[in-house]
Amino acid sequence: MRCEAVGVGEGEGRTGVGGADRRQRHEQWMRRALEVAVAGAEATAAAAADTPVPAADDIPVGAVLLGPDGAELAIGRNERELTGDPTAHAEVLALRRAAGRLGRWRLDGCTLVVTLEPCTMCAGALVLARVSTVVFGAWEPKTGAAGSLWDVLRDRRLNHRPEVYGGVLETETAAVLRAFFR
Ligand SMILES: [Zn+2]
Repeated sequence: MRCEAVGVGEGEGRTGVGGADRRQRHEQWMRRALEVAVAGAEATAAAAADTPVPAADDIPVGAVLLGPDGAELAIGRNERELTGDPTAHAEVLALRRAAGRLGRWRLDGCTLVVTLEPCTMCAGALVLARVSTVVFGAWEPKTGAAGSLWDVLRDRRLNHRPEVYGGVLETETAAVLRAFFR
């Protein structure tokens, strides 16, 4: 389970030169997602004086949604405390913004990159949006729904199952979270 490619179905077993390229691409996207997560923490710390809830309390999770051509469509960071919205997870915000930008709810061909393993809500939303590929960083053994506690993204009872790659830049992504909880 603790390897980079955890996808079943189409993604499974693809290795070699293509696999190395893909890994590099995933790591590049993950660096961008980390940037979003960390910038979020700084931005919310600066804005905390003007917001009723200390937004710096938001767990630094960042997400990037890429179109089929690899272009960045939208970003999202966890804003649950900032907005007081229980659904304001990084993935959901990135999905909403990308769908708004494209003018449609179907995001097939798109890739969602997030620094932490998605929860059940986000995994459900990713399936409903028909996202083709999900790439995540740190594993979340307590709430993860992409292989840890549940595996919503690859449940064979669902008619849409994205390819899943977990543990990308695991050390870096886990370090950002550890620093927050320290
Ligand atoms: Zn979530």
